Amino acid sequence: MSEKKTALVTGANKGIGYEIAAGLGALGWSVGVGARDDQRRAAAVEKLRAAGVDAFGVPLDVTDEASVAAAARLVTERAGRLDALVNNAGVTGGMPQHPTSDGVVETVRAAVETNVIGVIRVTNAMLPLLRRSASPRIVNVSSGVGSLARQVASDDPAMTGPLSVAYAPSKTFLNAVTIQYAKELRGTNIKINAACPGFVATDLNGFRGVRTPEQGAATAIRLATLPDDGPTGGFFEDAGVVPW
Ligand code: NAP
Repeated sequence: MSEKKTALVTGANKGIGYEIAAGLGALGWSVGVGARDDQRRAAAVEKLRAAGVDAFGVPLDVTDEASVAAAARLVTERAGRLDALVNNAGVTGGMPQHPTSDGVVETVRAAVETNVIGVIRVTNAMLPLLRRSASPRIVNVSSGVGSLARQVASDDPAMTGPLSVAYAPSKTFLNAVTIQYAKELRGTNIKINAACPGFVATDLNGFRGVRTPEQGAATAIRLATLPDDGPTGGFFEDAGVVPW
């Protein structure tokens, strides 16, 4: 088994996920680039390798059970264990999302399928690999818009984003799921935390974000590389703790 640490980053072909992969790679980690589109995944792996990262492609659609099972087999063969899983893949379903709009049920269902159920599916498939690490870390890339405390404290879209009945609650759901995993994994060496990247210029928001993907990746990288006395069951951004 390799001495080098290995991470799997979902949705790593672009945006924040790509920069999380690049950042872990720069720390000397081997990084699995989880991505569903063959061409985009190959292009990202090539770009990372050109930058000196030990990157490998992992075909992965987080909404597809067979795809996730195959990804776990690939990581098993390639690395034999996982030191960090970064659940970064996410969708909004388009904004704004009025609770009363046509087609809203499908929009909510799609957001939850990727942003919540996809995370549970991937995490459970990768747990056997994580349990083989001396210091396993799971990072769920959430969002400040999933903070109920921030939603109720402010009507300012700069703080809470546009009306969002699918995306924002899917991240609230993800935060709640993160807490349940932390409880389940209490007493093990596995740490699981949620990360808020801030408002980052990516495809997700039509590049309206004010932070760079590299800046957005920083908290997730920190949580993926936490020391053994680091926190678990928390929600963090660059500035510190995010209120639930
Ligand atoms: P992005 O550039 O749109 O990247 C999203 C990534 O998720 C893409 O690689 C996409 O792959 C992948 N993905 C979507 N559905 C998938 C699926 N079913 N299976 C596998 N991969 C899938 O957006 P981003 O801004 O970097 O977002 C990354 C994470 O940060 C998301 O969880 C998002 O909610 C969170 N976040 C972003 C912001 C922000 O301001 N940008 C703020 C807070 C939180 P394809 O290329 O195949 O579509």
